[in-house]
Amino acid sequence: MLEIKLEDISAGEEVEREWDVAIVGGGPAGLTAAIYTGRSMLRTVVFEKLAVGGQITVTDEVDNYPGVESVKGPELAKLMEKHAKKFGARIVFAEVLRIRKEGEGRFVLETTDGEFRAKAVIWATGAEPRKLGVPGEREFTGRGVSYCAVCDGPFFKGRTVAVIGGGDSAFTEGLYLSGLVAKLYLIHRREQFRAQKIYVEQLRSKPNVEFLLNKVVVEFVGDNVLKALRLKDTKTGEESTVEVDGAFVYIGLRPVNDVVKDLVELDERGFALVGEDTKTKTPGLFVAGDGRAKPLRQIVTAVSDGAVAAMMADEYIREISSHGT
Ligand code: NAP
Repeated sequence: MLEIKLEDISAGEEVEREWDVAIVGGGPAGLTAAIYTGRSMLRTVVFEKLAVGGQITVTDEVDNYPGVESVKGPELAKLMEKHAKKFGARIVFAEVLRIRKEGEGRFVLETTDGEFRAKAVIWATGAEPRKLGVPGEREFTGRGVSYCAVCDGPFFKGRTVAVIGGGDSAFTEGLYLSGLVAKLYLIHRREQFRAQKIYVEQLRSKPNVEFLLNKVVVEFVGDNVLKALRLKDTKTGEESTVEVDGAFVYIGLRPVNDVVKDLVELDERGFALVGEDTKTKTPGLFVAGDGRAKPLRQIVTAVSDGAVAAMMADEYIREISSHGT
């Protein structure tokens, strides 16, 4: 996890309560929005509840950000944070619990650090890892079950682990783990993968990696710590057990949109139904990043959303100012 710098922690410190733009979520979308609103001379606060950088802080290597051939996720996060601060953004470590609109250009954000006000809000909380929801998963989380290879991978050096999932995350994090562990099982419920072919081929070529396909995990088994996974074959129904020291679950993302569910249209999976302009049914509230319904979730698409949302927020603030509200 990223180190949180003390200078950013607002607890006990008097923080300005009135802002032009409040950005919720300090991932690539939120930080890019902050760079753009800052450059537009809008006074900007960014709320982050955990670690600045969002999903990229738990990504080992990023190799598809144009112009940067290879960079560690946490390093890219730090660069984005520094960039946003350069243009004046203030980062407040607090969770936004509720948002209400009291009139044009008057949003109130209730946070774990008290109330804040802003003329416009950019919701950029993205998405968080989904859970399998099978017996033992919760019990062994932190004791063998993990959702973050970068954070927990080093604990499994020279040991046996499983990665569960068939998307880009399972493969990129599997590639990272394969360099640390003695043996890695890639467990996926079918034979086709969502992951980009380049990652599939790279992982397949590793001598210490074995693919267990058409298998789902039905139970995480252990005593004090995880010892094994009970698997079920999706074609034959046959059950088997594979012994592992660790299991990394990468089965997709769940959008974090609960706080704005009454202010924004959501699809059946909870992603915000907003177009390229990031505008919601609530004027002055914009949604950017992985929490938006869209065909591709990448850092480049998140930063693109962030830039657009910032420009739309700027336009909104100019418009309400011209009305004299
Ligand atoms: P994802 O692309 O949604 O893939 C989720 C995987 O988990 C799928 O293979 C899915 O299987 C499997 N799965 C879902 N529910 C399951 C269950 N209950 N039991 C077993 N398996 C289950 O999610 P992701 O890999 O986390 O990626 C999220 C987004 O980030 C994607 O848009 C991805 O492209 C992006 N990303 C990009 C990069 C990169 O470009 N370097 C790296 C990481 C992530 P099915 O295929 O059978 O549905």
